[in-house]
Amino acid sequence: MKALVIVDMLEDFVDGALANPRAQDIVPRLQGLLERARAEGWVVVFSNDAHLPGDPELDVWGEHAMAGTPGAQVVAELEPRPGERELVSPKRAYGAFDGTGLDEELRALGVDEVVVAGQHTHICVRHTAYGALIRGYRIAVPRDAVCAFEGVDEDEALEYLRSVYGARITTVAELTGSVPVSAGGERPLGAEYEAGDVLTHEP
Ligand code: ZN
Repeated sequence: MKALVIVDMLEDFVDGALANPRAQDIVPRLQGLLERARAEGWVVVFSNDAHLPGDPELDVWGEHAMAGTPGAQVVAELEPRPGERELVSPKRAYGAFDGTGLDEELRALGVDEVVVAGQHTHICVRHTAYGALIRGYRIAVPRDAVCAFEGVDEDEALEYLRSVYGARITTVAELTGSVPVSAGGERPLGAEYEAGDVLTHEP
C-alpha cells in the first residue's frame, strides 16, 4: 500500500515567511498526484510544520509555520480532506517521522511504500526519506513534484536521495499512469530524463 506524503506545502513556504518561487510551479503537479492518490485509495498524508515557540529549528530559520497561524495552513489548491485514509500530521522538525507518530499510523493502514513530494528536496523531503528508510519503507520521489530553494542544485539533491536512501526517482506522469511504463516495470534507478520531456510525451 502506498502513501502519498506531501511535505510542507504551506502558506509560509509558498508565499509567506520562507516563500519559495519554485513551490508555486509544483502545485499543479501535486494536484494531479493528489487526485490520483485519492482515486486509487492510497493513504494521503500532509506532513506540515506546526512550530511552537522555542523549537530549535527556529534559531536557524526564524519564525515560520507557527502552529495555528495562517502561515501553517496547507495552500488552498491542495486542501486536505482529513479522514481515515487522509491524515494531517503536524511536525516540529524536518522529518515527517520525527516524533509525530506517523510510522504507527502508516503501519496500521498497511503502508509499505511512501511517495514523498512537496518541499524542500534537500531539507524536509530528505529527512522524511531518511525516516522512511530506517523504518523499512520503500521510497519514491517524483522529481517534478518536489522543489528545493532557488540556488540549490535540484539534481544533486535528488541524487542524494537515490544514492544514499535508495529512493526511486520518478515523475508524476509515471506515478499516475499517464505515461506507459516499459514491460519490465519500473525505469532503472537514476534513469536520466527531464520532467518536461515526460510531461509532454505522447503515449
Ligand atoms: Zn520548520
